[in-house]
Amino acid sequence: MSTRNGRVTPEAFPPPVDSPKEFVKRGLDPEDELIEVGVAIVGGGTAGLACANRLLQLLADDPETMERLGEVPVAVIEKAKTCGGHNLSGAVMRPGPLQELFPDLSREQWREEGFAFGEVKKEAIYVLPNGRTKVRIPPPPPQRNHGNEVISVSGLARYQQRLVEEGGAYILTETSATQLIVEDGRVVGVRSGDKGRGKDGEPLSNFEPGTDIKAQATVLAEGCWGSLTGAAIREFDLAADREPQVWELGVKEIWKVPKPLDRVIHTLAGWPLKISSKYHQIGGSWIYPMKDAKSGEDLVSIGFVIDLEYADATTSAHDLLQEFKTHPLVRSILADGERVAWGAKAIPAGGYWAMPKLSMPGALLVGDAGGMVNLAALKGVHYAIKSGMLAAESIYAALRRGQSSFEAYEQAVEDSIIGKELWEQRNTRQPFAKGLIRGGPLVNLMIATKGRFPGGRWSLHRNDAQPMFIGETKDSYPRPDGKYIFDKLSSVFISGNATRDDAPNHIRVRKRVPRELAETWRWMCPAGVYEIPDDAPEHGEVDVIVNYTNCVQCGAITAKGGRLTTPEGGDGPLYQLL
Ligand SMILES: Cc1cc2nc3c(=O)[nH]c(=O)nc-3n(C[C@H](O)[C@H](O)[C@H](O)COP(=O)(O)OP(=O)(O)OC[C@H]3O[C@@H](n4cnc5c(N)ncnc54)[C@H](O)[C@@H]3O)c2cc1C
Ligand code: SF4
Repeated sequence: MSTRNGRVTPEAFPPPVDSPKEFVKRGLDPEDELIEVGVAIVGGGTAGLACANRLLQLLADDPETMERLGEVPVAVIEKAKTCGGHNLSGAVMRPGPLQELFPDLSREQWREEGFAFGEVKKEAIYVLPNGRTKVRIPPPPPQRNHGNEVISVSGLARYQQRLVEEGGAYILTETSATQLIVEDGRVVGVRSGDKGRGKDGEPLSNFEPGTDIKAQATVLAEGCWGSLTGAAIREFDLAADREPQVWELGVKEIWKVPKPLDRVIHTLAGWPLKISSKYHQIGGSWIYPMKDAKSGEDLVSIGFVIDLEYADATTSAHDLLQEFKTHPLVRSILADGERVAWGAKAIPAGGYWAMPKLSMPGALLVGDAGGMVNLAALKGVHYAIKSGMLAAESIYAALRRGQSSFEAYEQAVEDSIIGKELWEQRNTRQPFAKGLIRGGPLVNLMIATKGRFPGGRWSLHRNDAQPMFIGETKDSYPRPDGKYIFDKLSSVFISGNATRDDAPNHIRVRKRVPRELAETWRWMCPAGVYEIPDDAPEHGEVDVIVNYTNCVQCGAITAKGGRLTTPEGGDGPLYQLL
């Protein structure tokens, strides 16, 4: 079946991937061919590094357990050139968990270290009826940000990396973990990917094979929809009885501006999205001030987030952000400024009911890999830090007692701020499936009653089950001028993307699909990876050209019928300030 009621759904064209076969390795290589570590952490983002930071704090006071973990007690495996290179967030952070992780570090010192940019003192929320006017509304409770801190997650990860290295852990950057190693029903480590293969997988002159990394505990901190996380969810049936995970896609720019912005701004729904339920377009924007304590420069973080449930194939988060910038509200902030950074990333948006079981024999899920994001508040950084800390504490407690089960972590998450906040927002997102006009009032009711009314468990619908049509959202995207409005390729250029031209293709999609699906990918991809040949027919099936070396690994393709698999370590963007 390729259509639903005569319309094309992405799920009918599954990507050519055999997840258990490709991403799970049965058994370890012989002892003399592998690397042995105590705890292997896959992903050097905020969650994985918080886990490493906390483990090192606990082990520093316990040489006996440290000894039991071997020569390399903690190893972090990160595919980017450096930790932070692939991390992107809004990012206004709730400060509690970071203060708990580093109690001796003041917020003033966060700013001196260069990853924090000031406390939120003023805020404003607008609904935009059209491209000219704005209506200010009181901030709904999840979006109140007073007292939070504007940060850069990419900067925070670099800071955490430094502390992890000083604490004696081993950080393998430019290294992808490509397989989960399972032996006798237990995760016993991961395999790092080969390096130096050509387009067709052939070994080049600089070829280096991957290695098995054996671990007493493995932490999957891969962020949004990692390959090993997906394999683990299938292998251990971690999503049984849960709702399907769903995603949003955010595109962000940083601007150097001549005059400081004095408040955090959000816009909800409305322009430039179409509010008719036919389009299923739900989203919003942020504009955050960033005062660089070192240089004294005034910066602004601006971004647009779109729910990947949309139905119009011509919806493009990249172009919607460009269109949003034409509103007088935004022009007045960015006028005479200069864009200095750009990036894009998907966010798990299903919340409480879509979170998989967080533990399996030998391994745990933390941060976005465990679906820990509060979309009503657009907050996940403090959960990433807290879940990393809780994972470290559960692993440490088990290993110290010579036990091998880390299940206590699940209850610890449930009892923490993560479980509490996500439970209150458990049904906040689902009513939007009815469209903005019918679903909006229900969402407000869910927020006001902290999920108690209408109550129950509201189901989520897979993003790839949405029938797609070729609409006219694209007609109002502004023309790039290279100064204020940008095209996708110039955006990719400033992301620092450095994927080798002859690297193997890490994007899995069908290469011949109905035009509706090809257009969906073409418009959705913020990096301009998918092209349709000029001479392709207007209707029916068309070929898709995949320029995978442009990919910034945002992960959105996984929501709409394709799959991002782990690329060669070191490939992809090199985010600095995002
Ligand atoms: C557009 C946007 C706006 C947001 N705004 C906010 C906000 O304002 N406030 C807030 O609190 N939260 C916000 N969030 C959410 C927040 O950014 C995330 O919840 C948080 O950063 C997740 O951290 P993480 O460490 O779990 O994942 P990530 O930061 O994604 O880190 C995962 C790391 O794992 C690496 N990796 C993945 N797979 C592998 C592999 N197989 N091998 C090796 N390395 C691997 C990646 O390269 C990456 O470095 C936003 C998110 C987005 C996308
Ligand atoms: S090709 Fe890469 S950048 Fe484009 S949507 Fe897919 S994962 Fe994102």
